[in-house]
Amino acid sequence: MLTGKNLVAGEWRSGAHSYTAMAAASGTALAPAYAEASADDVADACAAAAAAQATYTALPLSDRAAFLRAIAAHIEALGDELTERAMLETGLPEARLVGERGRTVGQLRLFAEEVENGGWQGLRIDHALRERTPPKPDLRMRKVPLGPVAVFGASNFPLAFSVAGGDTASALAAGCCVVVKGHPAHPGTSELVAGALLAAIREMGLPEGVFSLLGGTDHALGETLVKDPRIAAVGFTGSRAGGLALMQHAAARPVPIPVYAEMSSVNPVLLLPHRLEEAAEALASAYVGSLTLGAGQFCTNPGIVLVPAGAAADRFIAAVGAALAPIAAQTMLTAGILQAYESGIAAITAHGARLVGTGAAGSGPCGKAHVFAVSADAFRRQPALGHEVFGPVSIIVTCTDIDEMAAILAAMEGQLTATLHMAAPDYPAARELLPILEARAGRIIANGWPTGVEVTHAMVHGGPFPATSDGRSTSVGTLAIERFLRPVCYQDMPAALLPKALLDGPSGVLRRIDGAYAIT
Ligand code: NAP
Repeated sequence: MLTGKNLVAGEWRSGAHSYTAMAAASGTALAPAYAEASADDVADACAAAAAAQATYTALPLSDRAAFLRAIAAHIEALGDELTERAMLETGLPEARLVGERGRTVGQLRLFAEEVENGGWQGLRIDHALRERTPPKPDLRMRKVPLGPVAVFGASNFPLAFSVAGGDTASALAAGCCVVVKGHPAHPGTSELVAGALLAAIREMGLPEGVFSLLGGTDHALGETLVKDPRIAAVGFTGSRAGGLALMQHAAARPVPIPVYAEMSSVNPVLLLPHRLEEAAEALASAYVGSLTLGAGQFCTNPGIVLVPAGAAADRFIAAVGAALAPIAAQTMLTAGILQAYESGIAAITAHGARLVGTGAAGSGPCGKAHVFAVSADAFRRQPALGHEVFGPVSIIVTCTDIDEMAAILAAMEGQLTATLHMAAPDYPAARELLPILEARAGRIIANGWPTGVEVTHAMVHGGPFPATSDGRSTSVGTLAIERFLRPVCYQDMPAALLPKALLDGPSGVLRRIDGAYAIT
């Protein structure tokens, strides 16, 4: 049964003030009332995380991996209660949430394998050359956890990017304790998942400060958490304004810390002429499918489509209008997100974009899909048209030729993804465009659509600002662990004091020894 409490290092705490979760579809209040975490709760959670850090870091990697697997098992054991509560709070359909739960436990288990693999430690050994002039010392390096990480749960992934989502899984895998600031739109879902984490902590006999969950609706909570001196890094997914605010708080601390914020992207899609000519209608239907998936509430939504003007583009635009018309509007995550979506539509209209078509109306707080079209000239004159509007809206930009497509792309902000649709005769143009795409985006997609982010080793879900605050990183996939590590070098350290993984002799882990990579 839900309690409405925060979890501070193993203790479920109530509070002096409370807030209420709303059912996304009906807008009615959901029981129980949730305690607003206080400044004392933040301080206690951070102190407990700092106190637990050394013990957690020192765990054998096999135990750290077992902990991640235990979290996954306890989430699965929550059964339908979890998906039913998430459906109520977010309005997302059951199939989506069941899939998202699978992704959440899958990524915890993938990080468990990654922890055991050990390659992420970046182990390097450069043996001494004592006879050299000057003598070269013995140098050995490994990566160590940064320390307690503050994670901000995302509204649009109540499981896979919330309490035990990608940021938490990668931070725990790196050996960092975690304090989650739960998203106020799904506190019940968050409480259930926090219970699964606590059960795993107790099963493994870990210090309870390894994980805390704090909920609330006041920006002061997130600010206090980011400013707490014991927090060493931040993971965030949400709005550009929110991410920027947290970056500023982190940078203004006496000891600044890194913020890995995933914020805003319009994910340009380029339809190259030969492919557009041969498949205008099929592309239109797939585009509308990607755009309206999950009411467009994905950071990888195809928000801008660049097409070469002409008869094929006209066929594409007509087919988009036709494909869009029957798509019923879907419930949006929160009243605030719906309101921001509607303001975004009004702004695009005010900037003179031509409406290509809309989806069908829905009942309740739904976001009706919209597609607009503008010329490349008009797009250039109104930079605001290139900003993300979160929801099922997209703008088709008609360009005179490939050079104009390249120029529009080159002037765009950083993106999570960029997509090329092309046939073989388009490859020369694609080859010219690729360096621009590489400079702008973290993931380049060929003949696909940006929604759907696989959790794998090679995935990059990141990109230059404002896609993320630090384009050198990814928030999805095993490379995400890198965000919460830093290198430490041991010079001429006696073997008796070295970490085991850095001793000469067999380790079973990928290491770089005197410049050569080997698993020895
Ligand atoms: P949000 O407003 O950025 O909030 C995300 C989290 O950050 C919440 O826990 C929020 O808590 C906290 N927060 C926001 N601003 C803060 C500040 N100035 N100081 C401290 N904490 C702050 O995102 P949202 O509620 O999910 O949705 C709002 C908008 O974000 C959407 O309309 C959309 O534009 C964007 N969004 C983008 C993505 C994406 O993937 N790119 C995903 C989701 C949302 P409190 O509000 O309780 O303080």
